[in-house]
Amino acid sequence: MSKLHVNLVSDTATQPTPAMLEAMFSAPVGDDVFRQDPTVNELEAFAAQLMGMESALFCPSGTMTNQLAIKVHTRPLDEVICEEKSHIYQYEGGVYSLISNVSLNTLHGERGKLLPGQISAAVKPEYDWLPRTRLVVLENTCNKGGGSIYTLAEAETLVKEARQHGLGVHLDGARLFNALAETGESPADWGKLFDTVSICLSKGLGAPVGSLLLGPETEIREARRYRKVLGGGMRQAGYLAAAGLYALRHHRDRLRKDNERARKLAEVVSRQPYVASAEKTESNICIFHLQDRSAETYLRQLSEHGIQATPFGQKTVRFTTHLGVDDRQIDYVIECLPKLAGRNQ
Ligand SMILES: *Cc1c(COP(=O)(O)O)cnc(C)c1O
Repeated sequence: MSKLHVNLVSDTATQPTPAMLEAMFSAPVGDDVFRQDPTVNELEAFAAQLMGMESALFCPSGTMTNQLAIKVHTRPLDEVICEEKSHIYQYEGGVYSLISNVSLNTLHGERGKLLPGQISAAVKPEYDWLPRTRLVVLENTCNKGGGSIYTLAEAETLVKEARQHGLGVHLDGARLFNALAETGESPADWGKLFDTVSICLSKGLGAPVGSLLLGPETEIREARRYRKVLGGGMRQAGYLAAAGLYALRHHRDRLRKDNERARKLAEVVSRQPYVASAEKTESNICIFHLQDRSAETYLRQLSEHGIQATPFGQKTVRFTTHLGVDDRQIDYVIECLPKLAGRNQ
């Protein structure tokens, strides 16, 4: 096969499809800060209905939706429980300390997932010298956990545990629809379970920009105030919302394809002599650990074949499948991988 360009860096690397661009071009828009953008309003209403939740807020990024959730659930000096691989801990610059003045209590679970009993054991008693435990954040799928999936039953157990201690529950569902494409569970069942949910439109769903925070009207109204003061009030945002609306309507089902392709890759990856081990691949992320060379060296070798991926540690690499990667490209990568054996520098 002749050389192809394959971008496995991230599912944020997608380009809008012609139909999505068409939807963006023809979107009616207005000033969303005055709540006068019909397309933003339509997106928020559609997403709220889909998730079986009262209200939604369109934001520039998933970092913002997660941080707004933390802000509306906590007061300064509170503590948030999450698994140590969580995006809010690993990849949001520690900004919970700046915006919400809270600390995180990071627990060591399994592939980014909390286990039953862990929340109860971590909740702090009420003493003046201890932070006050207030919120639990779960992540589905968990990126750093290798795209691991919580089933609804697993999440229900954890949420019940959190509620027994009077804690709020937020779902970082940046890739929730990758999980649901696998399990067939209903978005509304997930929406009903949590106080607030974040959804990324700009990952596998393929929109160029945007995330949604969903939750009860009171919390979302409060989050809208903070979105504005943090500089996230966007004016004619309907052009972007149109892409998100298109993605939610037309790109949810195809995520199963991304998941399948990642699993196909993972199977071949795990058989390479230079791979020490590969994480279990359940969705569109394949994380593996190299035996004989650094991630930097391996990524350079891959790039000679036109393949781009992400370093995920000194000897760890992540492949992510998405809308911009088709079967032909996957077959090409599979053909290239064995060629890198024995090239440990
Ligand atoms: C991408 C991602 C986010 C949000 O990231 P932004 O780049 O700020 O949109 C949040 N959580 C998870 C698990 C993610 O993968």
